[in-house]
Amino acid sequence: MNINNWERGVRRVVPYTPGEQPKDINVVKLNTNENPYPPCERVKKILENFDISEMRLYPQPDAGILVNAIAETYGVSRDKIFVGVGSDDVLSMAFLTFFNSEKAVLFPDITYSFYDVWADVYRIPYRTVPLDSDFRINPDDYITENGGIVFPNPNAPTGVLESVEMVEYIVKNNPDSVVIVDEAYIDFAGDGASCLPLIKKYDNLLVVQTFSKSRSMAGVRIGFAMGSEKLIKYMNDVKFSINSYTMNTLSQLCGAEALKDGEYFSKTVNKIVDTREYSKKKLSELGFGMIDSKSNFLFASPNGKSAGEVFEKLREKKIFVRYWDKPVIRDYLRITVGTAEQMDVLFKALKEIL
Ligand code: PMP
Repeated sequence: MNINNWERGVRRVVPYTPGEQPKDINVVKLNTNENPYPPCERVKKILENFDISEMRLYPQPDAGILVNAIAETYGVSRDKIFVGVGSDDVLSMAFLTFFNSEKAVLFPDITYSFYDVWADVYRIPYRTVPLDSDFRINPDDYITENGGIVFPNPNAPTGVLESVEMVEYIVKNNPDSVVIVDEAYIDFAGDGASCLPLIKKYDNLLVVQTFSKSRSMAGVRIGFAMGSEKLIKYMNDVKFSINSYTMNTLSQLCGAEALKDGEYFSKTVNKIVDTREYSKKKLSELGFGMIDSKSNFLFASPNGKSAGEVFEKLREKKIFVRYWDKPVIRDYLRITVGTAEQMDVLFKALKEIL
């Protein structure tokens, strides 16, 4: 292809491919780890009562409404909280802020496929570290010179949860790097799974969470990070050098309100966890091999059958799951845990296909 001179200076990247968002509402959508339940009623009331003349005004640049609510819910002071437009925005800001050396940033070879995209777009050198044959992290692999560390816990797309002790071992032995733990799915992993308590002890640990999964608000786009005042200050300096008003007023209000209904939150999270455990049994009965997921999705292999073919056949039946034709994981499907009814539709279809 002919390349113009002006194109030589273009920042060229291969973008991340998000899961498909079909227009057809009859699709059983188990492909992007969304929550099958709506947000709590309080969010609806906020929307109903919103005075549209407020739209004239810029939002609070520090997203104060939301930051205050997060501070209260998580018992963390305001200056230890950063919010962004989904955790993708938060993670991208964190990459830009903290991964700024000549040394390679480390992350697992099987992990969230946005990490290498951010590394490429920001020209951050990186090295992927192989997981073991059970898709687990070997913490000692991360005790080596590096320009930073990032991994999800539970990991995606495997759902494997590593212990707080293991994460602490990595953080403690990397005092010269920032360690980012992406806890997008942590609320499905049970009490005591989050590394949040460690931020009191380590000023180089950033814990990132989202409203997209456990709080049913993927469409509103709210993510947040918690860490030492120093980390948050550095991130805000970068963020305010790019765009002050990333989070709109309505999102701030809806997010703050969603945090107030803890009962609804626990109820829906528990329902998803119950459906996940039920689905593990059902998939095993159908002959699937599985990783023990602690998230709101399952990483399952249709033993002896091509995962790619099963993916296509499910698609024909309007059931969407996620499949990557990539080394190591091409025998697996990632299946979001939906309602029990949606899962039963999936199991019925799988019975016909297998
Ligand atoms: N981290 C991980 C591991 C994810 O799977 C996702 C969802 N694609 C995200 C972060 C980003 O989620 P969001 O931007 O919706 O908060």
